[in-house]
Amino acid sequence: MSVAIALDGPAGAGKSSIAKRAAKALDYIYVDTGALYRTIGLAATRRGVAPVASPEVEALLRAITVDLTFNDQGEQVVLLDGEDVSGLIRTPEASMMASKISAIPAVRAYLLDLQRNMAKTHNVIMDGRDIGTVVLPDAQVKIFLTASPEARATRRFKELQEKGMDVRYEDILNDVITRDYNDTHRATAPLKPAEDSITVDTTALDFEQSVDKIISVIKENL
Ligand code: C5P
Repeated sequence: MSVAIALDGPAGAGKSSIAKRAAKALDYIYVDTGALYRTIGLAATRRGVAPVASPEVEALLRAITVDLTFNDQGEQVVLLDGEDVSGLIRTPEASMMASKISAIPAVRAYLLDLQRNMAKTHNVIMDGRDIGTVVLPDAQVKIFLTASPEARATRRFKELQEKGMDVRYEDILNDVITRDYNDTHRATAPLKPAEDSITVDTTALDFEQSVDKIISVIKENL
């Protein structure tokens, strides 16, 4: 049987970079489920479909295909109708669109099997908002990774600046707070720690310390 590690938490807690490194160390596959919601958001933006529950969103879901694959370096590649959109979905606009579209039950239902199938066929660290609560309730280890909104905004700000993007700290902090609110207040699969999850707070930890902490929590609990 394959091993599943569920890693949930708010936007910008460092889940993806920490999980990528931990997955490499443990020889698991890292699955970033946020990329799937971002991809649906991109599809909606391209077709002018508003991110609210509607027959238009349901028609959009029937019309598109979303696939997850991995490149030679073992990095996740997300395909929208066969096109690699992994880079296009990494903008603040795509983040906000994903946050809105992910509140729609039909969108969450559409992505459920895709996520579960990944965990059936591979040992995974799966990062998201509802992995331990909804997608993989039987995951062997569930971690809720969090940090203060300011620490998360500072990290994301530096990340985007390093990519050469022209961004303001205040805007990023507002985005973090808005997305936290959207993610925790939606009716379907709201962001909350699974009852049997272990909370790891990285506010006072640097990247390497966070990776070490996650790996030790996984090893201790497997
Ligand atoms: O993790 P990331 O920031 O890429 O996620 C983008 C958005 O997708 C989040 O703000 C959240 O609203 C949504 N999401 C979700 N459930 C997941 C992963 C992401 O609702 N499992």
